[in-house]
Amino acid sequence: MRTVIIGAGQAGRRCAEALRELDAEAGILLLGEEAHPPYDRPPLSKAVLLGTDPGKGLFVRAAEFYAERRIDLRLGTRVAAIHPAARAVETAAGERIGWDHLVLATGARARRLRIPGAEDPRVLTLRTLEDAEALKARLAARPRLAVVGGGLIGLEVAASARQLGCAVSVLEAADRLMARCVPPAISARCAALHRGHGVDLHLSCALRAIEPAPDGGLLLIGDGARIAADLVVAGIGGVPETALAEAAGIAVQDGILTDAQGRTSIPGIFAAGEVARFPHPFWGGRPMRLEAWQVAQTQPAAVARAILGMDAPPDEVPWHWTDQFGWNLQVLGDPDPSLTLVQRAEGEHRLTAIALDTAGRARGAVLINNGRDATPCRRLIAGGKVLDAAALADAGTPLRSFL
Ligand code: ADP
Repeated sequence: MRTVIIGAGQAGRRCAEALRELDAEAGILLLGEEAHPPYDRPPLSKAVLLGTDPGKGLFVRAAEFYAERRIDLRLGTRVAAIHPAARAVETAAGERIGWDHLVLATGARARRLRIPGAEDPRVLTLRTLEDAEALKARLAARPRLAVVGGGLIGLEVAASARQLGCAVSVLEAADRLMARCVPPAISARCAALHRGHGVDLHLSCALRAIEPAPDGGLLLIGDGARIAADLVVAGIGGVPETALAEAAGIAVQDGILTDAQGRTSIPGIFAAGEVARFPHPFWGGRPMRLEAWQVAQTQPAAVARAILGMDAPPDEVPWHWTDQFGWNLQVLGDPDPSLTLVQRAEGEHRLTAIALDTAGRARGAVLINNGRDATPCRRLIAGGKVLDAAALADAGTPLRSFL
């Protein structure tokens, strides 16, 4: 039985690895458009830009790994079409490759600005290793950098560029930073962190146009602000790569629609990682498409199990993290702004904040420089025990005592 995996990023790699771990005999073909062996993206906006050693965080596996595991890795290979009835894919070079199971791990691409002036070559996005290397080369000249989007990518790029000595502005359309993943009190701390490091932060400032400036640079026209820059990076989210799936008649709705183990609307075809929109147990089975390292790490293993006729692995509490200016911020579960946030502050730079629902059950947590609380927070969130908010607010009482 041969499984063909389209997309040799983190999700494709994880799916291939999991298949091999579970089945010594499976035929595994991993097709990647990029020239590089699979890499994980978190270091791109940090270590790669800063020129520090990303260690195993980037190329998680050595080049020999794939041959050793009998994973047939073909790089520089773009799939042009999927033929579900014939159970074959067709590459851009015209080769037809048959499969018994097909996995789409095509990921997402960076969303582009759609405003006047966005086509200027000084307006960049960050998604691939090439993007990161190109941005790093440009940052070496210490341009005035304007970052559009105060989400994870934008803020990580802003912090890296500032650390490299660039003047940095951030324009965020919403009235607070990282609104997608943290509650307002955490956004405020993050804004203070960036302002404290000299980032010129513009909130409630959607970018409307980019114009050439008389000095040869660029002028960004935002709501209530005009910002001069030499270089622009847009970090305004991702768009799932669903074109192949759509052309093949697979059901798509801002992501490839799947069940909890990645089965698409066509039998034998699966979707893995951030391209998939799947019913998430943490949100009561609501279909979610999550762009997070954890999803590309664990959901592809559930897909591999489905291919082999095995049921899903146990659920995990959603988790993601970001590193900015030496701060490590972790988000567990869903600290939705509508919940009650109990803050266990330990000084200015260390915090565990737990989001309780009306019954007093933990639904989410945010940790600032407090990774040691990740395990107890996960257990509190998964356990669903009713907690006493006043007792929980006392940072002197260890979290373990609430388990
Ligand atoms: P990413 O993964 O790229 O960081 P997020 O969704 O976490 O994506 O963050 C993207 C941010 O960009 C959001 O906070 C959103 O409000 C902001 N944004 C989107 N479009 C614009 C725009 N035209 N001007 C300013 N901010 C924008």
